[in-house]
Amino acid sequence: MRQAGATIIPVTPFQQNCSLIWCETTKKAVVIDPGGDVDYIRQAIAETGVSVERILLTHGHVDHVGGATELKEALGVPIEGPHSAEAFLLSRVTEIGASFGVEGARDVVPDRWLDDGDTVTAGELSFDVIHCPGHSPGSVVYVNRELKLAVVGDVLFAGSVGRSDLPGGDHDTLIRSIKEKLLPLGDDIGFISGHGPTSTFGQERTTNPFLV
Ligand SMILES: [Zn+2]
Ligand SMILES: [Zn+2]
Repeated sequence: MRQAGATIIPVTPFQQNCSLIWCETTKKAVVIDPGGDVDYIRQAIAETGVSVERILLTHGHVDHVGGATELKEALGVPIEGPHSAEAFLLSRVTEIGASFGVEGARDVVPDRWLDDGDTVTAGELSFDVIHCPGHSPGSVVYVNRELKLAVVGDVLFAGSVGRSDLPGGDHDTLIRSIKEKLLPLGDDIGFISGHGPTSTFGQERTTNPFLV
């Protein structure tokens, strides 16, 4: 069993859960959704003593991606994800950020678009990529089956699901993504959401009012 560590760093006025996840064997790490407050993220990386290999993005909303370009330049690492259906958001991060009163958010050009079935790594850890449209058309979820850990962005929350009223969102598609692609992975998979507390797929399958 490979060992891993994780820490959640709340960033931006939206209290978005930026995740730092690392392989204990190699101390290599990924940063998922560096939405902003890049100095704060870099401080967490330094305190943990890990070496970041890549930045991963779950989707294109400003609170998840606003700091990605700055962090990429600071660390000299690639940005991978989300799915290419998010291109229309990633090319307008500065503009959309300004409309929400977020300063300093920068547009993003990923080094690699991801699709259903791709894998991404951090040291010896491997994450499966699952395309879960509905909150946004190109949202992806990262799952490590060995650790029983998923990072789901704004697809699913403890007791709720992502909003679907933003451009490219669709509620029925979102519910189908969750029921057909996430819940079958197993009740014992724990997940980190883009906002709020962690939960498990089993807890949500049996109690989430949008899913029961
Ligand atoms: Zn979002
Ligand atoms: Zn969000």
